Amino acid sequence: MDTLIPPILYEEGSSLPTTEERGLWDIGKITNWSQQYLHSRGFPSARLDSELLLAKTLDLSRLGLYTNYNRPVTAEEQKRFGILLRRRLRGEPVAYVLGHKEFMGLHFRVGPEVLIPRPETELVVEQAIVFLEKQRLLAPSAERLRVLDVGTGSGCLAIAIAKACPFVEVVAWDICEKALGVACANARDLGVGERLGFYCLDALLPSSWVGAREFTLIVSNPPYVSKEELLSVAGGVKDFEPQKALLGGDDGLQFYRIMAEYAGARLKPAGQMLWEIGANQGAESKRLLAAFAWRDVEVLEDYSRLDRVVRTSVQ
Ligand code: GLN
Repeated sequence: MDTLIPPILYEEGSSLPTTEERGLWDIGKITNWSQQYLHSRGFPSARLDSELLLAKTLDLSRLGLYTNYNRPVTAEEQKRFGILLRRRLRGEPVAYVLGHKEFMGLHFRVGPEVLIPRPETELVVEQAIVFLEKQRLLAPSAERLRVLDVGTGSGCLAIAIAKACPFVEVVAWDICEKALGVACANARDLGVGERLGFYCLDALLPSSWVGAREFTLIVSNPPYVSKEELLSVAGGVKDFEPQKALLGGDDGLQFYRIMAEYAGARLKPAGQMLWEIGANQGAESKRLLAAFAWRDVEVLEDYSRLDRVVRTSVQ
């Protein structure tokens, strides 16, 4: 009686298993089986992935899986689980399979049109909040401070900052209309839609930067992977992410070059700029900013002790 049919074998459109086969599967067994299956195929986070995918299938939390450990999983549910599991087995990042990712404790929808938010990007948000809180105390009026996010993608930076700082308005740019659709939906779902403005713009064009000195803070996690690096990481998560959101020109620095030259003209006096950078881009970022007379340039490390954020003030 212990011949378990792996859900992976239920191809889309194939006939459903018999009642007898069905009865053999409950939440505990499915989780254990798929953990082993993923593990045997070299997935390091096999347990976590199995739990996340099954929880998604059954519309439960991960804790809910444990409080319903012996609940039978119907043939229909097994089929749906099998579809998600097969996507994971093909290497698709779990965030895309689930359709969402946590960032700063917020639930962001993600899809193949945007990068998956990384935990180290939270450092940019933390720095932004500290700076904006200070600026709020200095600002005499009840006027909202304005923030610009260059290359917003899923909107994670713009939205997390707007959530944490109810006294700001954020303008967010992206060149990709589909990405802006995702960011807009996230802003609405997370309740900050009316303080965010989205614009489809190419930040590499100097003409995009023409405008008033209206921003207190500019943040950006631009595409910063070099051509060489992108080739060297083939076969990983980045295979599924939009190249346009990763590749920062041949050397990875093209967005920093433009921002170093043009962003200062959009910042208010004493305004700040925060960039996420690649771990080996600290020295080069400093050099670029120095060439355009930015002040107090500092490179901050992430929790893995890698250079990750550049902070600077406008002249
Ligand atoms: N942080 C991403 C990485 O994994 C790159 C993101 C980006 O280019 N902005 O390298």
